[in-house]
Amino acid sequence: MYDLIIIGGGVIGCSVAREISHYQVKTLVIEKESDLACGTSKSNSAIIHAGYDPDPGTLKARLNVEGNSMYSQICNELDIPFRRIGSLVVAFHDEDIPTLEKLHHQGMENGVAGMKIINQNELRNLEPHIAKEALMALYAQSAGIICPFTLTIAMAENAAQNGVDFSLDTEVTAIDVCPDGHFSILTNRGRFESKYVVNAAGVFGETMNNMAGGEPFSIRPRKGEYCILDKAQGYLANTTIFTVPTKMGKGILVSPTVDGNLLIGPTAADIDDKEDTATTAEGLQQVIDGARRLVPGIQASKIITSFAGLRAIPDGDDFIIRSSKKIKGFVNAVGIESPGLTSAPAIAKMVRQILMDKGLLCEVKSQFTPHRKPVVRFRELSAAEQRNLIKKNPSYGKVICRCETITEGEIIDAIHRPLGARNLDGLKRRVRTGAGRCQGSFCTPRVAEILARELQIPIEQVTKSGKASYILAGKAKEQQMAKRGN
Ligand SMILES: Cc1cc2nc3c(=O)[nH]c(=O)nc-3n(C[C@H](O)[C@H](O)[C@H](O)COP(=O)(O)OP(=O)(O)OC[C@H]3O[C@@H](n4cnc5c(N)ncnc54)[C@H](O)[C@@H]3O)c2cc1C
Repeated sequence: MYDLIIIGGGVIGCSVAREISHYQVKTLVIEKESDLACGTSKSNSAIIHAGYDPDPGTLKARLNVEGNSMYSQICNELDIPFRRIGSLVVAFHDEDIPTLEKLHHQGMENGVAGMKIINQNELRNLEPHIAKEALMALYAQSAGIICPFTLTIAMAENAAQNGVDFSLDTEVTAIDVCPDGHFSILTNRGRFESKYVVNAAGVFGETMNNMAGGEPFSIRPRKGEYCILDKAQGYLANTTIFTVPTKMGKGILVSPTVDGNLLIGPTAADIDDKEDTATTAEGLQQVIDGARRLVPGIQASKIITSFAGLRAIPDGDDFIIRSSKKIKGFVNAVGIESPGLTSAPAIAKMVRQILMDKGLLCEVKSQFTPHRKPVVRFRELSAAEQRNLIKKNPSYGKVICRCETITEGEIIDAIHRPLGARNLDGLKRRVRTGAGRCQGSFCTPRVAEILARELQIPIEQVTKSGKASYILAGKAKEQQMAKRGN
């Protein structure tokens, strides 16, 4: 019997898991996909928002500002890249100026420090490649950028180091409340029993709540499409650049990524299918046109990949973070649309407090460590450090992904760390193999060989993203011989 089961291994589930791992609470995270961060937490704008956007008095406003302030320390503890590059909301017409002023006042009410309205000259100094028509902007110094899946995986890894169990490839199909009040959770891998449950299932949060019999609410998916541009375009933005927001969201932005690429997007389209993360020709054209209105120098020919993510839009206009009145011990942390990534560590603290208020005994764990084992990033080392490392471990001398300069040593480490990579996408999310200009055209066969060797599986069983996503159908020569009847 677990004390707590968390459903969902996105940034919310993993943040709650890390927060709870400070305490002697027997905890399990259940995730239906083969890895963490496979839902919305891998497909977003990757911005740690300053907090001027949400309406004052909402959970979004409070948790955004609190979460933002926690990131410098968290990223230091987890050894993940985070850059406070600041953000701009740019006015193009006189009619946009009242919106900038409204956002400025809203930000002050929400407790955002370091904001100011800047004129055209100041804007051009910050962003030399901004469109000529840009008039002025709201600058927010505390906004930052992060890699959302590195963050989610690092949170999970640290939670696992501190004793939290994870069950991947495990889909919750029913939640039964037993006569003594404990939960019996049915999955494709059998039943798990727990005294408390946190629902962090993202766009599927409504389904989990209905399974448990909680008070009804609805969550609708809103798709956002993006393009990532080659690092050669990274010089085009120094900060995250937004247009003025609309009722559908913050609009199309242009932003550097922590890895030096340029990110453009997202669109905002209400859809019905909670699994539909396909990009569309129209959506991507909208992204390119919108981004070029902000920064005309963006070249569509430098796009290296595209993706889409689904916002979990709740009934009301705020996060749903509360315990069920009907089902004792069932806590929802859902409807976590933007700024959910920013708010995640503050949401985790709030969820922990709700659980404690509902009677979960949280005794501090004396052996808790907030630090995860450091990650070697070979390309960031000095030549002398690289030489020393190769002397100690020659696998760091073999570059496998040439676009991103990823060595065999880094790949092996990513496979053998706690909750290590099990497939090509898992490695891409952890060490960026295949995330560069050629998108894996050169390194995929070598990465697959390393995965097969390290996981001790036949190469035909290596997958792109778990389940049946095999990358090889079999050995060509054997198949030909079989056809010939040899
Ligand atoms: C287009 C877009 C842009 C955004 N930009 C930003 C931004 O710049 N900054 C910001 O702060 N926020 C941003 N957000 C919001 C942020 O991405 C989300 O708030 C956050 O990722 C939500 O995390 P989550 O853990 O709730 O959901 P998810 O990451 O979706 O995690 C839920 C998990 O539950 C699992 N699950 C579902 N059903 C089951 C089941 N039956 N059994 C087991 N597991 C299950 C899923 O597989 C999934 O892994 C953006 C969102 C979108 C879509």
